[in-house]
Amino acid sequence: MDMNSDRSVWGIETDDFKTAFLDYLEGLKGDDTDRDKLISRFMWCVDVWVKWRREYFPDSECSQPLQHPFFDAPGQAGANEEPAKYRLIGSQGQPSVIAIRHNLLMGTSDLTIWKSDDGERRLVLKQDHPKRDAYIERLIVHELLHQWLVESSPEAIRTEYAEQTRKGAASNGGEFKAYKGHGSIFANHANRLNTTKGMPLLGDAFQPVPLRHYKPRHAAAVDRKRPSCSWFGILDAFFVWDPDADGLTDEQLRENDARMNQAIAWYDGAVELKVVEAPPVAIFEAPFDSSCADVCVNELDAFDQANGTNLVGAFISRIRHHIPMDPIAPTEIPAVARKKEPVVEYVDGSLHSVDDFMADIGLGDVPAHGDTPTLADVYPLSRPNSSLKSLELDIEIAKEKGLTKAQFAEQRFGHPRGDRLSRHLGALRQAAA
Ligand SMILES: [Zn+2]
Repeated sequence: MDMNSDRSVWGIETDDFKTAFLDYLEGLKGDDTDRDKLISRFMWCVDVWVKWRREYFPDSECSQPLQHPFFDAPGQAGANEEPAKYRLIGSQGQPSVIAIRHNLLMGTSDLTIWKSDDGERRLVLKQDHPKRDAYIERLIVHELLHQWLVESSPEAIRTEYAEQTRKGAASNGGEFKAYKGHGSIFANHANRLNTTKGMPLLGDAFQPVPLRHYKPRHAAAVDRKRPSCSWFGILDAFFVWDPDADGLTDEQLRENDARMNQAIAWYDGAVELKVVEAPPVAIFEAPFDSSCADVCVNELDAFDQANGTNLVGAFISRIRHHIPMDPIAPTEIPAVARKKEPVVEYVDGSLHSVDDFMADIGLGDVPAHGDTPTLADVYPLSRPNSSLKSLELDIEIAKEKGLTKAQFAEQRFGHPRGDRLSRHLGALRQAAA
C-alpha cells in the first residue's frame, strides 16, 4: 500500500486527496463481499460530501480548508440514537470523522427515523428503496454544517461553538458540547443555508421554515413551536411545526399535514408514515373480591384469543413485579435478568412497557397496591374536574348495569353504604365549581 501517510495531506479538500483516498479504499477491496459493500458505501459518502461541500461551503466561505472527513459506520441506529455524528477526532485518532449508523448506511433494515411522543405515529425509512439514499445524503449535509462550524467558520463563531468560553449560553463548554451542537449558532446557520441555497436536495420545491434552538425555552418566542434545528436537512422536510409542541392550532396542524404529505410524496415510497392505533379497549367490570383474578384472567384471555395479544402475560408480569412471590430468591437471579423490565407485544409487533400497556387499556390510574382502592386514589381531589367526570361516568355505567350508587360503592370500594361516595362526589363538585 503506497498510500501517502504524511498527515499533512489529510484533511485538505483537494481533488488530489480525493483521488488518492478513493484509490486507497478501492485497494482495500478483496474477497469479502460485506466489507466490499461497506467500502463502496464509504466511497459514495466521499462523493456526496465533496459535492455538497462545494455547494454549501466553498473555500471563499471557509476560514481554513475543511478537512476531508473519514467515514465510519458504528453500531445500530434506533429511534433514540442519533443517526449520524460529526467528530473532530475519531476514536482511532483520525482527524474529522462523520459516523453514520451501520444499519442506516447499509440499508440492512427498515428504520424508524421519527416517532411521535404518544408513540402512535412513526416515520419509517424503508430498507431497500432506491430513494432512501436521498435521506442519507441530506444527513451528510447536516453533518457538514457541524463540521464547518467546528473547523472552518470565522474564528469567533468557531470558538463559541466548539470551545470553552466564559460567558453566555456556551459557558458549559460551547454549544457543540452543551446542546449536542444544536443551539442558536447551528439554528442560525441552518436557517441561513435554507433561505439562501434552498433546502438540501429539495431546492425550491419546499418552503424553508425557521428552525429553533434545540431547547425550546432558549428559542425566540415566535419560534418556540418550530422544529428543532437538530432536524435540519432531514426531518424539517416533514414538519413546519414541532408536532410535539404544546397547543398547536388547527391551522398549524393542517400545515404539518400538508408538509408531511409533500415530503412523503417526494420520497416516493422510501419513507412511510405508520400509524399504530392503541389496542382496542375491552371494558369489563372487575369485582374487588377473591373472584377478581378469575374474572380478569378469563376476560384477558378472551381478548388475547380475539386479538392475538398477550394480555394475560402482561397481567402476570404486573403481579410478579409488585408482589415478591417468586420462589427463586432474588440473589439467585442473574443481575441482567433481574433488571430486565417486562414488555408487552402488541398486535403490530411493537414492544411496550407494562406501564404503557396498562395506560393504553385504561388501567393506568388504578392503584396496584392494597386490597381495595380508596375513593381518593381513584378520583383524587387534586384533579377535581377529571375526577368528577370519571366518577360520574362510572356511576352512569353502574346504573346501566342495574347497580345503585350504594351497590357501586360497595362493589368497587367495599363501603357498607353509599354515603361516603356521595360525600366525595359532593366535595368533587364543590372543588370543580
Ligand atoms: Zn446535528
